[in-house]
Amino acid sequence: MRVLGVEGTAWCASAAVHDTETDETFIESDAYEPDSGGIHPREAAEHMGDAIPRVIETALQRADGEIDAVAFSKGPGLGPCLRVAGTAARALAGTLDVPLVGVNHMVAHLEIGRHESGFDSPVCLNASGANAHLLGFHDGRYRVLGETMDTGVGNAIDKFTRHLGWSHPGGPKVEEAAKGGEYVDLPYVVKGMDFSFSGLMSAAKDAVGDVPASEASGGQSEHRSDDGEAVENVCFSLQEHVFAMLTEVSERALSLTGSDELVLGGGVGQNARLREMLAEMCEQRGAEFYAPEPRFLRDNAGMIAVLGAKMAAAGDTIEIADSAIDPDFRPDEVPVTWRDNESV
Ligand code: ATP
Repeated sequence: MRVLGVEGTAWCASAAVHDTETDETFIESDAYEPDSGGIHPREAAEHMGDAIPRVIETALQRADGEIDAVAFSKGPGLGPCLRVAGTAARALAGTLDVPLVGVNHMVAHLEIGRHESGFDSPVCLNASGANAHLLGFHDGRYRVLGETMDTGVGNAIDKFTRHLGWSHPGGPKVEEAAKGGEYVDLPYVVKGMDFSFSGLMSAAKDAVGDVPASEASGGQSEHRSDDGEAVENVCFSLQEHVFAMLTEVSERALSLTGSDELVLGGGVGQNARLREMLAEMCEQRGAEFYAPEPRFLRDNAGMIAVLGAKMAAAGDTIEIADSAIDPDFRPDEVPVTWRDNESV
Protein backbone atom coordinates (compact mmCIF):
# COMPACT_ATOMS: atom_id res chain seq x y z
CA MET A 1 0.00 0.00 0.00
CA ARG A 2 1.19 3.53 -0.75
CA VAL A 3 -0.22 6.40 1.28
CA LEU A 4 0.20 10.11 0.74
CA GLY A 5 0.44 12.10 4.00
CA VAL A 6 -0.30 15.83 4.27
CA GLU A 7 0.87 17.86 7.29
CA GLY A 8 0.03 21.47 8.02
CA THR A 9 -0.65 22.00 11.74
CA ALA A 10 1.54 25.08 12.30
CA TRP A 11 4.89 25.94 10.67
CA CYS A 12 5.69 22.98 8.44
CA ALA A 13 3.97 22.45 5.08
CA SER A 14 4.81 18.86 4.29
CA ALA A 15 3.78 15.96 2.08
CA ALA A 16 5.09 12.40 2.16
CA VAL A 17 4.60 9.06 0.53
CA HIS A 18 4.95 5.93 2.64
CA ASP A 19 5.24 2.54 0.94
CA THR A 20 4.29 -0.32 3.26
CA GLU A 21 6.01 -2.93 1.06
CA THR A 22 9.45 -1.34 1.28
CA ASP A 23 8.87 0.64 4.51
CA GLU A 24 10.34 3.66 2.70
CA THR A 25 9.05 7.14 3.38
CA PHE A 26 9.79 10.10 1.12
CA ILE A 27 9.18 13.49 2.77
CA GLU A 28 9.08 16.93 1.17
CA SER A 29 8.74 19.90 3.57
CA ASP A 30 8.72 23.67 3.37
CA ALA A 31 9.08 25.60 6.65
CA TYR A 32 7.45 28.93 7.52
CA GLU A 33 10.00 31.30 9.03
CA PRO A 34 8.54 34.43 10.64
CA ASP A 35 10.36 37.70 9.93
CA SER A 36 10.16 38.55 13.61
CA GLY A 37 8.50 37.18 16.76
CA GLY A 38 6.81 33.79 16.92
CA ILE A 39 4.43 31.96 14.59
CA HIS A 40 1.68 34.30 13.34
CA PRO A 41 -1.38 32.13 12.48
CA ARG A 42 -2.45 34.19 9.45
CA GLU A 43 1.05 34.33 7.98
CA ALA A 44 1.51 30.59 8.67
CA ALA A 45 -1.79 29.85 6.86
CA GLU A 46 -0.64 31.99 3.90
CA HIS A 47 2.54 29.93 3.85
CA MET A 48 0.43 26.73 3.80
CA GLY A 49 -1.62 28.05 0.86
CA ASP A 50 1.57 28.74 -1.03
CA ALA A 51 3.63 25.68 -0.09
CA ILE A 52 1.16 22.78 0.32
CA PRO A 53 0.40 22.40 -3.44
CA ARG A 54 4.14 22.51 -4.15
CA VAL A 55 5.17 19.84 -1.59
CA ILE A 56 2.26 17.58 -2.65
CA GLU A 57 3.29 17.85 -6.28
CA THR A 58 6.89 16.95 -5.45
CA ALA A 59 5.79 13.97 -3.33
CA LEU A 60 3.46 12.69 -6.06
CA GLN A 61 6.17 13.05 -8.71
CA ARG A 62 8.55 11.10 -6.48
CA ALA A 63 5.89 8.43 -5.84
CA ASP A 64 5.56 7.98 -9.59
CA GLY A 65 2.66 5.54 -9.34
CA GLU A 66 -0.62 4.76 -7.65
CA ILE A 67 -1.63 6.16 -4.28
CA ASP A 68 -4.04 4.00 -2.26
CA ALA A 69 -5.13 6.55 0.39
CA VAL A 70 -4.62 10.17 1.47
CA ALA A 71 -3.97 10.88 5.15
CA PHE A 72 -3.91 14.33 6.74
CA SER A 73 -3.41 15.98 10.13
CA LYS A 74 -6.92 16.61 11.46
CA GLY A 75 -5.54 18.33 14.58
CA PRO A 76 -4.43 19.58 17.03
CA GLY A 77 -2.94 22.73 15.58
CA LEU A 78 -3.66 26.23 14.31
CA GLY A 79 -7.14 26.35 12.74
CA PRO A 80 -6.21 28.53 9.72
CA CYS A 81 -3.29 26.18 8.85
CA LEU A 82 -5.24 22.96 9.41
CA ARG A 83 -8.00 24.23 7.12
CA VAL A 84 -5.63 24.74 4.18
CA ALA A 85 -3.94 21.34 4.52
CA GLY A 86 -7.30 19.61 5.14
CA THR A 87 -8.85 21.16 2.04
CA ALA A 88 -5.92 20.01 -0.09
CA ALA A 89 -6.15 16.45 1.30
CA ARG A 90 -9.91 16.24 0.70
CA ALA A 91 -9.57 17.53 -2.85
CA LEU A 92 -6.80 15.07 -3.60
CA ALA A 93 -8.62 12.06 -2.15
CA GLY A 94 -11.67 13.03 -4.22
CA THR A 95 -9.65 13.51 -7.42
CA LEU A 96 -7.72 10.25 -7.00
CA ASP A 97 -10.89 8.50 -5.79
CA VAL A 98 -9.12 6.94 -2.80
CA PRO A 99 -10.06 6.78 0.91
CA LEU A 100 -9.35 9.73 3.22
CA VAL A 101 -7.75 9.17 6.65
CA GLY A 102 -7.94 11.77 9.46
CA VAL A 103 -4.85 11.48 11.67
CA ASN A 104 -4.28 12.90 15.14
CA HIS A 105 -0.94 14.73 14.88
CA MET A 106 0.15 13.88 18.46
CA VAL A 107 -0.69 10.18 18.09
CA ALA A 108 1.37 10.29 14.86
CA HIS A 109 4.35 11.69 16.86
CA LEU A 110 4.02 8.61 19.12
CA GLU A 111 3.34 6.03 16.43
CA ILE A 112 6.35 6.95 14.29
CA GLY A 113 8.57 6.16 17.30
CA ARG A 114 6.76 2.88 17.88
CA HIS A 115 6.95 1.99 14.17
CA GLU A 116 10.65 2.79 13.86
CA SER A 117 11.70 1.20 17.16
CA GLY A 118 9.62 -1.95 16.83
CA PHE A 119 8.63 -1.52 20.49
CA ASP A 120 5.35 -3.19 21.39
CA SER A 121 3.67 -0.86 23.86
CA PRO A 122 5.94 2.01 24.86
CA VAL A 123 5.27 5.06 26.98
CA CYS A 124 5.76 8.15 24.80
CA LEU A 125 7.10 11.55 25.81
CA ASN A 126 5.85 14.04 23.24
CA ALA A 127 8.05 17.13 23.59
CA SER A 128 6.97 19.43 20.78
CA GLY A 129 6.35 23.11 20.21
CA ALA A 130 2.73 23.44 21.27
CA ASN A 131 2.49 20.30 23.43
CA ALA A 132 4.21 18.40 26.21
CA HIS A 133 2.68 15.19 27.51
CA LEU A 134 3.17 11.54 28.33
CA LEU A 135 1.04 8.93 26.61
CA GLY A 136 0.49 5.30 27.54
CA PHE A 137 -1.78 2.72 25.90
CA HIS A 138 -4.66 1.40 27.98
CA ASP A 139 -7.99 -0.13 27.04
CA GLY A 140 -8.02 0.84 23.36
CA ARG A 141 -6.70 4.39 23.64
CA TYR A 142 -3.57 6.40 24.30
CA ARG A 143 -4.18 7.89 27.73
CA VAL A 144 -2.62 11.20 28.77
CA LEU A 145 -0.65 10.18 31.87
CA GLY A 146 0.77 13.64 32.52
CA GLU A 147 0.94 16.96 30.71
CA THR A 148 1.94 20.58 30.85
CA MET A 149 -0.35 22.76 32.93
CA ASP A 150 0.39 25.80 30.75
CA THR A 151 2.43 26.10 27.53
CA GLY A 152 4.02 23.47 25.33
CA VAL A 153 7.73 22.94 25.97
CA GLY A 154 9.05 24.34 22.65
CA ASN A 155 6.74 27.35 22.85
CA ALA A 156 8.03 28.06 26.38
CA ILE A 157 11.65 28.02 25.19
CA ASP A 158 10.75 30.14 22.14
CA LYS A 159 9.10 32.77 24.40
CA PHE A 160 12.31 33.02 26.41
CA THR A 161 14.40 33.53 23.25
CA ARG A 162 11.96 36.18 21.99
CA HIS A 163 12.79 38.08 25.19
CA LEU A 164 16.43 37.93 24.08
CA GLY A 165 15.45 39.14 20.60
CA TRP A 166 16.58 35.89 18.99
CA SER A 167 14.86 34.68 15.84
CA HIS A 168 12.38 31.77 15.75
CA PRO A 169 12.80 28.89 16.50
CA GLY A 170 14.64 29.41 19.77
CA GLY A 171 15.24 25.79 20.84
CA PRO A 172 18.34 25.13 18.70
CA LYS A 173 19.84 28.49 19.72
CA VAL A 174 19.36 27.76 23.43
CA GLU A 175 21.00 24.37 22.87
CA GLU A 176 23.99 26.04 21.24
CA ALA A 177 24.29 28.83 23.83
CA ALA A 178 23.97 26.33 26.72
CA LYS A 179 27.25 24.69 25.75
CA GLY A 180 29.34 27.30 27.58
CA GLY A 181 27.00 27.73 30.53
CA GLU A 182 27.09 27.12 34.27
CA TYR A 183 24.25 26.21 36.62
CA VAL A 184 21.99 28.84 38.19
CA ASP A 185 18.92 28.02 40.24
CA LEU A 186 15.51 28.29 38.55
CA PRO A 187 12.04 27.04 39.56
CA TYR A 188 11.38 23.32 39.11
CA VAL A 189 7.65 22.63 38.93
CA VAL A 190 6.41 19.03 38.84
CA LYS A 191 3.05 18.22 40.45
CA GLY A 192 2.39 14.50 40.39
CA MET A 193 2.43 13.61 36.70
CA ASP A 194 1.92 17.19 35.49
CA PHE A 195 4.36 20.03 35.14
CA SER A 196 4.49 23.77 34.49
CA PHE A 197 6.89 25.95 32.52
CA SER A 198 5.50 29.49 32.84
CA GLY A 199 7.09 30.36 36.23
CA LEU A 200 10.40 28.89 35.13
CA MET A 201 10.41 30.99 31.95
CA SER A 202 9.52 34.18 33.85
CA ALA A 203 12.39 33.46 36.24
CA ALA A 204 14.75 32.82 33.31
CA LYS A 205 13.75 36.16 31.76
CA ASP A 206 14.24 37.92 35.12
CA ALA A 207 17.64 36.24 35.52
CA VAL A 208 18.99 37.68 32.25
CA GLY A 209 17.33 41.05 32.91
CA ASP A 210 16.76 43.49 30.07
CA VAL A 211 18.86 42.61 27.07
CA PRO A 212 20.03 45.76 25.23
CA ALA A 213 18.52 45.88 21.74
CA SER A 214 22.00 46.20 20.22
CA GLU A 215 22.96 42.79 21.67
CA ALA A 216 19.69 41.03 20.94
CA SER A 217 20.44 39.43 17.60
CA GLY A 218 20.51 35.95 16.30
CA GLY A 219 21.23 33.78 19.30
CA GLN A 220 24.97 33.96 19.80
CA SER A 221 26.16 32.94 23.23
CA GLU A 222 28.25 35.98 24.17
CA HIS A 223 25.42 38.21 25.38
CA ARG A 224 25.39 39.58 28.89
CA SER A 225 22.84 42.12 29.98
CA ASP A 226 23.96 45.02 32.19
CA ASP A 227 22.09 43.83 35.24
CA GLY A 228 21.72 40.08 34.78
CA GLU A 229 23.21 36.62 34.68
CA ALA A 230 25.23 35.60 31.61
CA VAL A 231 22.82 34.39 28.94
CA GLU A 232 24.72 31.14 28.40
CA ASN A 233 24.33 30.29 32.10
CA VAL A 234 20.57 30.85 31.93
CA CYS A 235 20.30 28.80 28.70
CA PHE A 236 22.25 25.96 30.29
CA SER A 237 20.15 26.02 33.45
CA LEU A 238 16.88 26.37 31.55
CA GLN A 239 17.67 23.18 29.65
CA GLU A 240 18.75 21.36 32.82
CA HIS A 241 15.52 22.29 34.63
CA VAL A 242 13.06 21.75 31.76
CA PHE A 243 14.57 18.45 30.65
CA ALA A 244 15.00 17.13 34.21
CA MET A 245 11.28 17.81 34.78
CA LEU A 246 10.39 15.90 31.59
CA THR A 247 12.75 13.06 32.56
CA GLU A 248 11.26 12.81 36.06
CA VAL A 249 7.70 12.46 34.77
CA SER A 250 8.79 10.04 32.06
CA GLU A 251 10.33 7.82 34.72
CA ARG A 252 7.18 8.05 36.81
CA ALA A 253 5.09 7.06 33.76
CA LEU A 254 7.29 4.01 33.16
CA SER A 255 6.93 3.06 36.80
CA LEU A 256 3.15 3.60 36.79
CA THR A 257 2.51 1.57 33.64
CA GLY A 258 5.15 -1.11 34.25
CA SER A 259 6.40 -0.50 30.68
CA ASP A 260 10.11 -0.91 29.98
CA GLU A 261 10.04 1.01 26.69
CA LEU A 262 10.14 4.77 26.16
CA VAL A 263 9.90 6.60 22.83
CA LEU A 264 10.42 10.31 22.25
CA GLY A 265 8.36 12.45 19.88
CA GLY A 266 8.23 16.12 18.81
CA GLY A 267 10.62 18.83 17.65
CA VAL A 268 12.25 19.43 21.06
CA GLY A 269 13.29 15.78 20.87
CA GLN A 270 16.02 16.93 18.47
CA ASN A 271 17.85 18.30 21.52
CA ALA A 272 20.88 16.17 22.39
CA ARG A 273 20.78 17.00 26.13
CA LEU A 274 17.13 15.89 26.46
CA ARG A 275 17.90 12.62 24.67
CA GLU A 276 20.97 12.11 26.88
CA MET A 277 18.95 12.56 30.10
CA LEU A 278 16.17 10.21 28.95
CA ALA A 279 18.65 7.56 27.75
CA GLU A 280 20.51 7.69 31.08
CA MET A 281 17.30 7.39 33.10
CA CYS A 282 16.16 4.41 31.00
CA GLU A 283 19.52 2.70 31.30
CA GLN A 284 19.46 3.09 35.09
CA ARG A 285 16.06 1.39 35.37
CA GLY A 286 16.72 -1.28 32.71
CA ALA A 287 14.30 0.19 30.17
CA GLU A 288 14.83 0.68 26.44
CA PHE A 289 14.82 4.16 24.93
CA TYR A 290 14.25 5.16 21.32
CA ALA A 291 14.39 8.59 19.67
CA PRO A 292 13.43 8.71 15.96
CA GLU A 293 15.76 10.41 13.49
CA PRO A 294 15.27 14.24 13.33
CA ARG A 295 13.20 14.19 10.11
CA PHE A 296 10.56 12.18 12.03
CA LEU A 297 10.81 14.23 15.27
CA ARG A 298 10.02 17.74 14.03
CA ASP A 299 6.66 18.22 12.30
CA ASN A 300 6.61 16.15 9.11
CA ALA A 301 4.14 14.39 6.82
CA GLY A 302 6.10 11.12 7.01
CA MET A 303 4.60 10.27 10.40
CA ILE A 304 1.12 11.15 9.05
CA ALA A 305 1.61 8.80 6.07
CA VAL A 306 2.94 5.97 8.27
CA LEU A 307 0.05 6.13 10.74
CA GLY A 308 -2.36 6.82 7.86
CA ALA A 309 -1.29 3.53 6.25
CA LYS A 310 -1.91 1.61 9.49
CA MET A 311 -5.34 3.25 9.88
CA ALA A 312 -6.30 2.65 6.23
CA ALA A 313 -5.29 -1.02 6.54
CA ALA A 314 -7.59 -1.28 9.56
CA GLY A 315 -10.45 0.30 7.61
CA ASP A 316 -10.25 3.45 9.75
CA THR A 317 -11.09 5.94 7.00
CA ILE A 318 -13.54 8.86 6.98
CA GLU A 319 -16.14 10.36 4.71
CA ILE A 320 -15.52 13.91 3.47
CA ALA A 321 -18.56 15.04 5.47
CA ASP A 322 -16.92 13.83 8.71
CA SER A 323 -13.48 15.21 7.94
CA ALA A 324 -13.69 18.62 9.63
CA ILE A 325 -10.44 19.72 11.25
CA ASP A 326 -10.22 19.92 15.07
CA PRO A 327 -7.68 22.42 16.47
CA ASP A 328 -8.12 20.93 19.98
CA PHE A 329 -8.05 17.25 18.97
CA ARG A 330 -6.64 15.40 22.02
CA PRO A 331 -4.81 12.09 21.60
CA ASP A 332 -7.06 10.32 24.11
CA GLU A 333 -10.10 11.01 21.86
CA VAL A 334 -8.76 8.58 19.25
CA PRO A 335 -10.00 4.96 19.27
CA VAL A 336 -6.86 2.96 18.41
CA THR A 337 -8.08 0.72 15.60
CA TRP A 338 -4.78 -0.37 14.05
CA ARG A 339 -2.82 -2.17 16.76
CA ASP A 340 -4.57 -5.52 16.19
CA ASN A 341 -3.71 -5.30 12.51
CA GLU A 342 -0.01 -4.55 12.48
CA SER A 343 1.33 -6.13 9.33
CA VAL A 344 1.95 -2.63 7.88
P1 ATP B 1 3.25 20.33 17.74
O1 ATP B 1 3.73 18.97 17.30
O2 ATP B 1 2.89 20.42 19.16
O3 ATP B 1 2.19 20.86 16.82
P2 ATP B 1 5.09 22.30 16.59
O4 ATP B 1 4.15 22.43 15.47
O5 ATP B 1 5.48 23.55 17.24
O6 ATP B 1 4.57 21.26 17.63
P3 ATP B 1 7.57 20.69 16.33
O7 ATP B 1 8.31 20.56 15.05
O8 ATP B 1 7.14 19.43 16.99
O9 ATP B 1 6.40 21.65 15.96
O10 ATP B 1 8.45 21.46 17.38
C1 ATP B 1 8.96 22.76 17.13
C2 ATP B 1 9.65 23.21 18.40
O11 ATP B 1 10.87 22.47 18.57
C3 ATP B 1 10.03 24.68 18.41
O12 ATP B 1 9.50 25.24 19.58
C4 ATP B 1 11.55 24.67 18.44
O13 ATP B 1 12.12 25.72 19.19
C5 ATP B 1 11.83 23.33 19.11
N1 ATP B 1 13.16 22.80 18.80
C6 ATP B 1 13.67 22.52 17.59
N2 ATP B 1 14.96 22.08 17.71
C7 ATP B 1 15.26 22.10 19.03
C8 ATP B 1 16.41 21.79 19.81
N3 ATP B 1 17.54 21.38 19.23
N4 ATP B 1 16.35 21.93 21.15
C9 ATP B 1 15.19 22.34 21.75
N5 ATP B 1 14.09 22.67 21.08
C10 ATP B 1 14.11 22.55 19.74
